[in-house]
Amino acid sequence: MNQHLRPDPVAFIDIAAQRRRLGRSIDEAVSRVLAHCQFINGPEVTELEAALAAFSGAKHVVSCASGTDALLMVLMAKGVGRGDAVMCPSFTFCATGEAVALTGATPVFVDVDESTFNMDVASLTRGVATAKRLGLKPKGVIPVDLFGQSADHDAIAAVAQAEGLFVLDDAAQAFGASYNGRRLGGLGLITTTSFFPAKPLGCFGDGGAIFTDDAAFAETLRSVRVHGQGSDKYDNVRLGLTGRLDTIQAAVLLEKLKIFEDEIAARNVVAERYARGLGNVVTVPRLAGGASSVWAQYTIRLPDGIDRQEFALALKAQGIPTAIYYPKSMHQQTAYRDFPVADGGLPASERLSSDVISLPMHAYLDEPTQERVIKAVRGALST
Ligand SMILES: *Cc1c(COP(=O)(O)O)cnc(C)c1O
Repeated sequence: MNQHLRPDPVAFIDIAAQRRRLGRSIDEAVSRVLAHCQFINGPEVTELEAALAAFSGAKHVVSCASGTDALLMVLMAKGVGRGDAVMCPSFTFCATGEAVALTGATPVFVDVDESTFNMDVASLTRGVATAKRLGLKPKGVIPVDLFGQSADHDAIAAVAQAEGLFVLDDAAQAFGASYNGRRLGGLGLITTTSFFPAKPLGCFGDGGAIFTDDAAFAETLRSVRVHGQGSDKYDNVRLGLTGRLDTIQAAVLLEKLKIFEDEIAARNVVAERYARGLGNVVTVPRLAGGASSVWAQYTIRLPDGIDRQEFALALKAQGIPTAIYYPKSMHQQTAYRDFPVADGGLPASERLSSDVISLPMHAYLDEPTQERVIKAVRGALST
């Protein structure tokens, strides 16, 4: 072997390592579906919904086709539409605001807290005032538990209650995280998540779920999930969509859920090692009081004067991948720049978009590999 070869590339998210750990169990679970052929609404779907309810503490779980559909289905079931405003953070994945816009309602973008990356409650209050000033009816708020950390749900609930808003928690990156000792999904809020493969709990395709304690609302969601069906398939009482989770994906998730708790613990060990190794050279993420994280991303902020692109190239040269979540906040995107932003602007979202970068993070990142990442980051900062 040529000793001048580059070191092995590090995986940003190692789905193959998880697959090795699970061995044949997923293959067998999928084979069972191939044998019974109930590809839509098979027994695994009901089984998964019960398992997710038990895991999260939610009374009802409605599985669906993606995290985006989960958001859209909730907004449709709430009857959100033209003239309504729904407040959401600007520093998030685009699906959060997109689901609002798809209903015809207006997303009003609010700022985030720079140390937790989650919704800034003062900006939320300003966003509600902005919506009213524009003649919109403030209907709901969508906090996002960004990068895996729970948002400040008590503070958001206080504003929501005072303003008569529903809360829809977008936990697409944070299923498994908790707030004041209770898992997301089990907080009594309407909560959605995604099972996209790169999320902390991912399937082998697209998938999502909605969590609620309200039985009647869960029934409405089940109707929206299948074209707004009423007493049967060919009785349509509202608009809906094809929003079901495939049975095969439910079978995959049932196997992965068995090791999820252990993977969350492993992700936290990785996060602690990063904080110890990098806390004195970059801004590492901070957990707010009462919040835990499942570390969907490990996102650092580079010091002033460090060129982010050069930094990423220096790491890449050593086989270490990075990613930028998100290089633009939603209000800076072509598709969304005409929607309103909360009075006072969104300076934190704009700063974060310019200085964040995410490092490899997954449950199977072993200590020697992680030491390589830490060393490379420190090296890239000292040149
Ligand atoms: C991934 C993600 C979604 C969308 O989930 P999909 O399953 O990809 O549709 C929504 N919101 C946030 C914050 C996400 O990270």
